[in-house]
Amino acid sequence: MHIEIDQDVCIGAGQCALTAPNVFTQDDDGFSTLLPGMDDGGGDPLVKEAARACPVHAITIKEPTG
Ligand code: SF4
Repeated sequence: MHIEIDQDVCIGAGQCALTAPNVFTQDDDGFSTLLPGMDDGGGDPLVKEAARACPVHAITIKEPTG
């Protein structure tokens, strides 16, 4: 799994950090960012919930193919 956050789309609603606080946080400008080393979600099952919770769908989860 690889997580991407489109900060051009993110409106800083904070739903991702609320839903999966071990993976997402908010930067000084209030936009979502990943905690250090959490590009792969760290196996946290809440990552998919967080992506769903985002009101503007700024979070993309890429699963490895093959
Ligand atoms: S839930 Fe979406 S809009 Fe809100 S901070 Fe996270 S990525 Fe940004």
